[in-house]
Amino acid sequence: DTLISQIAAGEVVERPASVVRELLDNALDAGASEIQLRLMAGGVRQILIEDDGCGIAAQDLPRAIQRHATSKIRSLHDLESVLTMGFRGEALAAIASVAALRIITRTQGASTAFMLDAASGEIEPAARAVGTSVEVKELFFSTPARRKFLKSEATELAHCVEALRRHALARPDVGFALWHEGKLQHQWRSAEGRSQHGDLDTEDEQRMVEVSATALERRLADVMGPEFMAQSVPVDYSEGGVRVFGRAGMPTHSRARADQQYCFVNGRFVREKTIAHAARSAYEDVLHGQRQPVYVLYVEIDPALVDVNVHPTKIEVRFREGRLVHAAVRHAVQQALAPSSA
Ligand code: ADP
Ligand code: MG
Repeated sequence: DTLISQIAAGEVVERPASVVRELLDNALDAGASEIQLRLMAGGVRQILIEDDGCGIAAQDLPRAIQRHATSKIRSLHDLESVLTMGFRGEALAAIASVAALRIITRTQGASTAFMLDAASGEIEPAARAVGTSVEVKELFFSTPARRKFLKSEATELAHCVEALRRHALARPDVGFALWHEGKLQHQWRSAEGRSQHGDLDTEDEQRMVEVSATALERRLADVMGPEFMAQSVPVDYSEGGVRVFGRAGMPTHSRARADQQYCFVNGRFVREKTIAHAARSAYEDVLHGQRQPVYVLYVEIDPALVDVNVHPTKIEVRFREGRLVHAAVRHAVQQALAPSSA
């Protein structure tokens, strides 16, 4: 039923940036190493995302846009330690109910690509290299009440860029590019993309490339900017089975804003109170700093100790051993800010 699915879609799709986030998650889940995002009118008129991931087999295409159809959870046990980004099988169905959705995709070994038009359900041969393009046009075109809640084009674009920044910081091993109205806005290359245009032998090899410390530093510099790099210190610390790395800004950093704290848990962007509190405590311990510090912190922990996605859209995680994580983050940031005192 369209009405019910449109209401349900509201949970997932609030604005163009929510679509961007879901499509980026899907591209990363598909093992993409290069992702291109093209937006028109802040993403309201069009969102086109192209990846070089595994593609969707023609016979699986109709299912991809059905509600609760996911290829990512095979047993209930998987829910306990979800490593892929999306796993509810709702995103494409939700997007299709509030916008015009087309998918062009090709798998390795397929003789051609295929295009699915969500509105008609028709599938026809198309041209494309291995990977997937998802095109979302005229968001909320049939739900004017929703469309009314969208902000200016510039604001919607800013939200889309923010979604891209989070994904780009989460995955320095993947190259990202963003065009708006046909103009290149950002291009953040992967380490491989910089050196040799990413021609590794097999997909497996590609995935096994370790994200080197230099790749992370480069990505941080690209996304956060030179000022942050100059006014921040590296973090790298392990305690109690929790690894914490990244960069912590000095309170002198002038562009410090409340929304400039980035935390990633096992490669997923999160807003999480334990990490934020621990980081803030460390700044207070060491610098007695009043200012909102900027930081990018990566926490790595046994996935079995993390509950992901308490709510369908809010990126929430809950730690089973919160105190361990708190101590590790606090000490990591303390040590980074004042190596002798920690
Ligand atoms: P979920 O990601 O939770 O499984 P989605 O609605 O986002 O649900 O996607 C449905 C399915 O479509 C996925 O499980 C996956 O099999 C397929 N899919 C979506 N996007 C891509 C992509 N970019 N590359 C390959 N497969 C994709
Ligand atoms: Mg998904």
